Amino acid sequence: MRSREPGDMDGVRFRHLVAAASDAFVETDDAGVVTEWSHQAEAMFGWPASDVIGRRALDFWIPARFAERYREDLASARPGVDMARREIRLLNSDGEELQVSIGGYVVEDRGRVLVGGFVRDLGSERAAEEALAHAYLHDSLTGLPNRTLFTYRLAYALARGLRQPGSVAVLVLDLDRFKAINDALGHEVGDEVLVAVASRLVEADGVAEVVARLGGDEFLVLFDGDGAEHLAIDYSERVLESLGRPIPVAGSEVFVTASIGIATTAGSTAEATPLLSDADTAMYVAKQRGGAGYHVFGEALRVEVLDRLTTEHALHRALERGELRLFYQPVVDIRSTRPVAVEALLRWDHPEQGLVAPSRFIPVAEESGLIIPIGTWVLHEACNQLQRWWGTVPVDGPPAGRSQVRPVHADTTVEVNLSARQIDHLDLVDTVEGILEGTGVPPANLTLEITESALMKDPAAALTVLRALKDLGVTLAIDDFGTGYSSLSYLQRFPLDILKIDKSFVDGLGVEPGGAEIVGAIVNLAHSLGMQVIAEGVETDRQLHHLRLLSCDLAQGFLFSEPVPAWDVPTGATGVPLVGDASPRGMAASGGVGR
Ligand code: C2E
Ligand code: MG
Ligand code: MG
Repeated sequence: MRSREPGDMDGVRFRHLVAAASDAFVETDDAGVVTEWSHQAEAMFGWPASDVIGRRALDFWIPARFAERYREDLASARPGVDMARREIRLLNSDGEELQVSIGGYVVEDRGRVLVGGFVRDLGSERAAEEALAHAYLHDSLTGLPNRTLFTYRLAYALARGLRQPGSVAVLVLDLDRFKAINDALGHEVGDEVLVAVASRLVEADGVAEVVARLGGDEFLVLFDGDGAEHLAIDYSERVLESLGRPIPVAGSEVFVTASIGIATTAGSTAEATPLLSDADTAMYVAKQRGGAGYHVFGEALRVEVLDRLTTEHALHRALERGELRLFYQPVVDIRSTRPVAVEALLRWDHPEQGLVAPSRFIPVAEESGLIIPIGTWVLHEACNQLQRWWGTVPVDGPPAGRSQVRPVHADTTVEVNLSARQIDHLDLVDTVEGILEGTGVPPANLTLEITESALMKDPAAALTVLRALKDLGVTLAIDDFGTGYSSLSYLQRFPLDILKIDKSFVDGLGVEPGGAEIVGAIVNLAHSLGMQVIAEGVETDRQLHHLRLLSCDLAQGFLFSEPVPAWDVPTGATGVPLVGDASPRGMAASGGVGR
């Protein structure tokens, strides 16, 4: 193959190159008469080649004020010396000046000196750059500034407001239940709603520095100046009011509400990231209070958040270091007061604080998701303990001073509490099945308790999980009954075996007017749905007496025994009643929280 020299390009290939280039190609002779005018030049400047070839550039193309300089350039053109690219102005066929950049060469061709150049329209390039910059800093759906631009503006405001505490406020707004709108009406309607909300946020403005969209249904607003907190609060009130008007979409109307969190450099910090996260925290408070409102971040909230984070951190460790314990509280037959089951109740044996009650850490565990591994541990430990009591697995030995009794019947069940988060979790059924298999506990000896409020949070989803659990053969109980808002139709459809009446109703027995009637009604309801009833928190003989009269089946409470460590569980193997004429009080004194 013949090798080619760089300058060896033939005319056809050169023409292809010119045609494919994005720049316009123009050539003149050394007198400035046009000899080449590519089709890009036609598009850029508006004249067809036929109109300009043979004409002097000076007569139509070069603005008069640059004519002198152009003549000098032509005169100094030397073949072989390229012209450096530079920005100049040239006229188009409408007589407008275009900002272009031009780079060229000078050659000698058959005795003629030719000056060629590639011309780039900077105007359209700048426009493209600007469009790109706009897209980089704005949200494409609503046209509002995006997080990047907001962050720049916030950093600027913070730097300027350094010496003036409280002069900067950020507001985080999150629509309530927006997912439901999206799911029910589709994403297009969801987008329409977001655009409408964006314009209401802008309309309600007047004082805000920036109104930005973070993405999803989250918006950010920046206030910069004296009394920023008040500006933000006023703004929130106006926005919440304006969101009260229906949003017309696709021939219908949608109502939205929003939760707003505000943080200021006075109440929070003067650093962007923590300031935003404090506003976020405040927004969650507004959300937890039912939405459609605002909350301002303050010191109390910071302490609360820190406290929660500390607990969460320590709880992680607790699980790893084996600081969790199960206590057990017997459930007795209401007539004989003989134990028939034990409820496993979680304790945290905190290295400094001693035994911590579940109400102090389960909410944190639920919020952080730690309840999933903790719940699995509880299930496993409770089933294992049953085997230890039965003597089917070797025991390291009960604590010193305790005889190795086997306090529970072979048909005793262990009741384990499940949290709402666990029922949401897809793996729950597999986890329970795996633990039953792994520990060898028959499903009939395990009862799972789920609170009424957890079941009623999403009854349809709960129904599916309950049915799958029921198929495993375990017993199911609804806990704290009477504290949630049960839908009777669901109550009937849930495959529940046991209903546990909340302590608050037991407390009312013989004390509050109508107290016994309410408990009686619940017992009847449960019985008519084929459920057994456990009364929780029975503390007095008088309550026990009432419950017997009302045909309650089972009972649990300090009257029989407090929750105690595994080896202190009152013996049921010998069939000894825990209270009543024939027996002394249980063994309540030997254990319990704060032992
Ligand atoms: P719960 O399941 O309704 O458990 C009954 C609670 O009432 C227990 O509190 C128990 O100690 C207490 N109690 C029992 N009898 C009496 C009584 O006669 N008088 C009084 N004043 N209280 C009585 P505890 O152990 O503090 O547990 C509180 C709640 O924490 C439980 O309520 C349950 O909802 C939750 N919980 C406990 N362990 C676990 C667990 O392993 N997992 C989950 N998800 N929740 C648990
Ligand atoms: Mg319970
Ligand atoms: Mg309960």
